Parts: sequence; C-alpha cells; structure tokens
Amino acid sequence: MHALTERYHDLQRALTQAAQASNAPRTPTCIAVSKTFPATDIQSVYDAGCRDFGENRVQELLDKILALPSDIRWHFIGQLQRNKVKYLIGHVALIHTLDRLSLAQEIEKQAAKQSIIQPCLIEINLGAEPQKGGIAPADAPELLHEIRSAMPHVQVDGLMCIPPQAWESGRAFALLASLAQQWQAQGLLAGTTLSMGMSDDYQSAVAHGATLVRIGSALFGTR
Ligand SMILES: *Cc1c(COP(=O)(O)O)cnc(C)c1O
Repeated sequence: MHALTERYHDLQRALTQAAQASNAPRTPTCIAVSKTFPATDIQSVYDAGCRDFGENRVQELLDKILALPSDIRWHFIGQLQRNKVKYLIGHVALIHTLDRLSLAQEIEKQAAKQSIIQPCLIEINLGAEPQKGGIAPADAPELLHEIRSAMPHVQVDGLMCIPPQAWESGRAFALLASLAQQWQAQGLLAGTTLSMGMSDDYQSAVAHGATLVRIGSALFGTR
C-alpha cells in the first residue's frame, strides 16, 4: 500500500477513536493540509478517500484545483488579502480566515456578483498576537452582527483558531468552543463548525469539540 494511503487510514482511525473517547456526536472531518506538496501526493490521499484539502496560498490553490478532481472540497486556511478574494469565490468550499469587516465586505461583493453564498469561518486571535491573523474575541460580536445584518452572501458556519504560541493548546480549544456557545446563545452565530487542531494537537481539539481538524505534516510528512 502507498505510504500516504496508510497514513490517511491511520489518521482516520485515530480521529474515530478520539471522537469516541470524548463522546463526540460524530467523527470530525479531516482536512488534509497539502500546502507545498505536489498534486501527485494530493491525488494519493484523494484515492485513499479524502475529499477535503486545505491550502494557504491563493495561486498555489488555483493551480492545484485545475490539476485535481473536481469533487474535492477546497479549504482556504491562509491569511487572505482583499484583492485575492475574487479568485477564490466560487472555487472554495470554506474560507477559514475571515477576520475583518473589509474582508467580509469584499467576500459579500464578489459572492453577490456570482449569485452564490460563500461559507466562511471567523478566525479568532485568542491571544491577541499581533503577527497573526484573526480577530480579537472582544471585536468578533460586532463583526458577526454586521455580517448577519448586511451581508446575505456571506454565511458564517462557525469559528477557527490557531492556538497562541505560549498557551497549552487545550486551553485555546476550550475557549474557542465556549465563545461559539456564547455567541450562539446570543443569536450572533448560527453555525456550529469548529475548525481547530493540527498534527500535534488534534486529539485535544477533538476532545474539546472540533468538527474540522487541519492535518498537514502528520499526513504528508515534514515541509
Ligand atoms: C499549515 C497549517 C496547518 C497544518 O499544520 P501541521 O502542523 O502540518 O498539521 C493547519 N492550519 C493552518 C492554518 C496551517 O497554516
């Protein structure tokens, strides 16, 4: 068996076990983060059954979309510039990194132009780390409110985070889950997706309710 096939099946098993161990209602979806890896590797993981792939650069993503099967659900997980939005809309299943009003407005504009509704996640910068993307928790309710009231072509499916460097990752996952609950209870957030957990910490993320995990190196190898 191809090494990638085997690693994908091992990962699926580990995810199923982690979900059962934490009484999660269902096994989270594995997004195979394929940035920097060639289309041939992606095809192998696709052949093993994976349909969700994540990329963090627009041009690399567009090149791979052209080279690979059309039923792949592509996830954009990188920091997104407003002037690149027009290339993504209509091609990505989910944008994980919506973190500011100007970006939401551009997604609204481009999605409206194509008459589609673009699913997105709000990226939360839990530790207020300046070099990272994401909106501060205190600023998110206003963004959520703006989107709900004025942007019918932007659909917020839930939240995403990358744990702050200095934090034990479980603390970040617990906080993201509780923010989602709070904003759902306040009527600001309808979606229940939680995109959290990477190669080194996905078990903890699953225990805290992740519905999407983003796995790169544990699947494809070191970059
Ligand atoms: C690269 C990346 C991942 C995957 O990281 P690994 O540690 O290789 O699993 C997940 N999420 C984001 C946003 C990334 O940029």
